[in-house]
Amino acid sequence: MTVISEIKQRIDIVELVSDYVPLQKAGRNLKGLCPFHSEKHPSFFVFPEQQTWHCFGACGTGGDVFSFVMKKDGIDFSEALSLLAQRAGITLGPPTMPSKPEDGEKEELFQINEAAAAYYHHLLLDTKAGEIARSYLSKRKVALETIKQARLGFAPDSWETTKKYLMGKGYKEGKLIEAGLVIAKEGGSYDRFRNRLLFPICDIQGRVIGFGARALDESLPKYINSPQTSVFDKGASLYGIDKAKDAIRRENSVIIVEGYTDVLMAHQHGWRNVVASMGTSMTEKQVAIAKKLTKNIVLALDADAAGQEATLRDAEVLISSLDKKTTPIPLWSGLVKYENVLDAEIKVIVLPKDKDPDEVICENPSAWQDLVRQATPLLDFAFGAVTNKLDTSKAKDKSLAMERLMPLIYEIKEPVKQAHYVQKLAHLIKVDESVVVVALRKPKGRGKGSGASLSQVSSQLLSDPVEAYCLALLVQYPELRQIAKELSGDHFESTDNRELLIRWQGSPGIPTLRDELDIGLLEHLEYLLSKAFPAPIREDEKTRRSAFIQCSLRLQERLLRKQEVRREQLLVLENEAGGVGAQLAKLEEQGIEASKELREIFIKQAQHWQNREA
Ligand SMILES: [Zn+2]
Repeated sequence: MTVISEIKQRIDIVELVSDYVPLQKAGRNLKGLCPFHSEKHPSFFVFPEQQTWHCFGACGTGGDVFSFVMKKDGIDFSEALSLLAQRAGITLGPPTMPSKPEDGEKEELFQINEAAAAYYHHLLLDTKAGEIARSYLSKRKVALETIKQARLGFAPDSWETTKKYLMGKGYKEGKLIEAGLVIAKEGGSYDRFRNRLLFPICDIQGRVIGFGARALDESLPKYINSPQTSVFDKGASLYGIDKAKDAIRRENSVIIVEGYTDVLMAHQHGWRNVVASMGTSMTEKQVAIAKKLTKNIVLALDADAAGQEATLRDAEVLISSLDKKTTPIPLWSGLVKYENVLDAEIKVIVLPKDKDPDEVICENPSAWQDLVRQATPLLDFAFGAVTNKLDTSKAKDKSLAMERLMPLIYEIKEPVKQAHYVQKLAHLIKVDESVVVVALRKPKGRGKGSGASLSQVSSQLLSDPVEAYCLALLVQYPELRQIAKELSGDHFESTDNRELLIRWQGSPGIPTLRDELDIGLLEHLEYLLSKAFPAPIREDEKTRRSAFIQCSLRLQERLLRKQEVRREQLLVLENEAGGVGAQLAKLEEQGIEASKELREIFIKQAQHWQNREA
């Protein structure tokens, strides 16, 4: 995985943007006042599902996490890269690597966090202001004993209380900023956590390394946490690990849930081998912590499809962290392989619809116990996930199920187990077992291509295929430069692709470009240069040209379509919110213009095909 794609995977755009712009919910998305131009009605949108942002107002632009900080902080791509890498807890190459703080300095951060945890805990338990947090906890049925054990805390609705308290204890303002408890601003600083319930996050040794914080009013985001510090890396921490480690070893299994309260309630009811990934997808570092304690990993998932998608990402992390040597293509088969190689077992708990683990435990502790007892082995879960959207009475869906599940079955080493899943598949799609057995003997699509490394797979997943294809053609075949003039950075949504195109346009050729790029983009360039094209493209200039024109037109079409779709989204949202008439009219007008351009692209595409056939 390249540094750039890793950063994109780790940083949540909502969390990032919220550091700069107060956001409010707008359907599945969030909106706020645009930070790049002055306005009274919010036209700045963040799309969590796509991890992108867009200003529909005066700016009319958008992008991803990189373009956001570049624009907001007025920095270039390489500065944005090092800033975001730091935030994501990723070490860049030597030139930008921050100097390692002395142990003494770390020690002081531990002390500050410890003092803050004690103070917040006191405010929660012993003050009138803490009532709001206490009543929230009692509503969630968190016992006093649990509150004390987890040392939950309350940050008051004030800008300087914590800062003043800690400075009174002799800690310097700069150190409090370094610890992430206080945020620097022009000519001063203020408390990061305000009117929030605090969950001290500890390392495996029980030292407080940071805090998770839940809003006690309608503030968004609902959850925030300490920023990256020299002692805190969210992606490398598991909430509750200090309290769970003995139980994990004893029971030789770990259950990974999402939220802080899920962990608290599980522990409160005696299931102490539960930890939380704290909302985001699991990371390699998190798995590495769990792996030291057990090889039996149970993932607790939402019932909805989003949960299953998240598991796919989690699964990918599991593979890369636990067995670098496997070639996991596709994903599920990689996991199966991993189970074989390491003699490990991954199981999945699917939670009842719209319920968090803590709700299940609260309502009926024995229901949770049953869920855990009935955790589904990964393979069975994968079978279900693949077939539940298919109608296996239809021929087309039967082949689809075969196509997706055969690679999994192929990976099973144990003959008896393999036979079991052959039967299962045959039964599921209602065909004779012999059909599956025959297919198993001549696996499709193996051999060439199946040896791709995980990093290649990931970057394919994370980088847009059309963009990457187009760019790879450009960097590999210099003669295409003449017909690439219509492409601009705007046609590329992925900032790495966009930056690379711009840099390539401004440079005479690859050798110079190589010298100019720094490590992040260089890595991406090398990846694009190594992409292998099929023979017709390699050997025939005309085919190459045609392939390039096609994908270039695709990108142009996509941009216009996206503008239209987003404009429609905004129209709907604005209508709901009783949008201003003039603004609507303007948007509609822009919509017509975009359609005109789109028509031109269609004409060009048609012409292109005619020319080819002629
Ligand atoms: Zn704007």
